[in-house]
Amino acid sequence: MRAVIVGGGIGGLAAGVALSRQGWRVEILERAAEFTEVGAGLSLWPNALRALDRLGLGDVVRGRSSLGAQAGIQDAAGRWLARTDTAELERRYGPVAVLHRADLLDILLAAVPARSLRTGVVVHAVRPDGTVLHSAGESTADLVVGADGLHSVVRRSLWPSAPAPRYAGYSAWRMVTRPVPIGESVESWGRGERFGYAPLPDGRVYCFAVANTPEGGGHGGLAELRRRFGGWHDPIPTLLAAVDESAVLHHDLYDLPALDSYVSGRVVLLGDAAHAMTPNLGQGACQALEDAVVLGRAVAAGDLAAYDRARRPRTQMVARRSRQIGAVAQWSSRPGAALRNGVLRLMPRSSFLRSLAPILDWPG
Ligand SMILES: Cc1cc2nc3c(=O)[nH]c(=O)nc-3n(C[C@H](O)[C@H](O)[C@H](O)COP(=O)(O)OP(=O)(O)OC[C@H]3O[C@@H](n4cnc5c(N)ncnc54)[C@H](O)[C@@H]3O)c2cc1C
Repeated sequence: MRAVIVGGGIGGLAAGVALSRQGWRVEILERAAEFTEVGAGLSLWPNALRALDRLGLGDVVRGRSSLGAQAGIQDAAGRWLARTDTAELERRYGPVAVLHRADLLDILLAAVPARSLRTGVVVHAVRPDGTVLHSAGESTADLVVGADGLHSVVRRSLWPSAPAPRYAGYSAWRMVTRPVPIGESVESWGRGERFGYAPLPDGRVYCFAVANTPEGGGHGGLAELRRRFGGWHDPIPTLLAAVDESAVLHHDLYDLPALDSYVSGRVVLLGDAAHAMTPNLGQGACQALEDAVVLGRAVAAGDLAAYDRARRPRTQMVARRSRQIGAVAQWSSRPGAALRNGVLRLMPRSSFLRSLAPILDWPG
């Protein structure tokens, strides 16, 4: 059997691993000249590591990651608002891994047969019969996987009435610093602004920042980050001093309103193409990895509908929660932020783990 996968990001490559392990002949069409990821870190929660275990890649990913969950949430002055019971999280689910995106991509690429990989091929449309029209001609397949991200061409071809991605109201900066000694990873919340950091295994630090901004508003690079966050608690100013301007990435954030189905005949959607979500829970790529595992099982059972049944409710639940958390985390009014911080301080430690349980409990 033959599959064409449109898009060679984390989701498409993971699907390539899952399908080739089921004995399928796979062709991955990637429009970029090479398979690359943005220069940023990525957190992989225990559910994603379980998915990688199913693909035979969990241990190699753990070996290239910093292991350990985020210690909790602080305010801009560094006072704790909520602490994670990291020991209990690890005991129940295992560690959270943070690694450089390029390292994950390398690991996935090495697990896909080299003959499956085609770069510089832009897909223009997909037909219901499994014909994929692209810049190098056309490909036909028993299964087409749309893993082509937020603005998916596959989704536009076969889900023409699907709603467009919607802007979250905030944008994110990501960057990797030069090596800086820091302890635990933390996220800090201000008013309409957040800053988080996590160590990478080689001593560099992955940082992200979020702020309420108009859609398409652009950004002022490192100068804007220093203006917004330079007066926040340590080690944030130190981290900002250890970043090169060229390392700063900025993106407006979107999610995709819920689709009615992830399967149309012999075409399926996977990853952001199916369920792009805001990054507030750090679950977009984690869910794409789960998708790949479940898709592999569905094709082995000859039951694509099972993929839709298993994946749509779960991923839409995660996307919904992520959006809700983002709305509260981005509150910008002084009374709203004070109320939120007060409630966070009062919440028992166990409530954070309880709220994550439906996401981390994924059985694999
Ligand atoms: C700020 C931020 C932080 C995040 N942090 C985390 C995190 O910590 N943990 C986590 O799990 N997730 C996180 N995510 C989400 C995660 O990055 C995405 O969910 C994940 O990368 C989606 O992978 P994908 O393969 O589905 O899509 P993409 O990464 O978008 O890949 C799609 C691929 O398809 C290719 N393509 C597109 N169109 C075509 C075409 N027409 N023809 C051929 N190729 C095409 C693209 O070039 C690309 O390579 C974050 C996202 C953001 C924005």
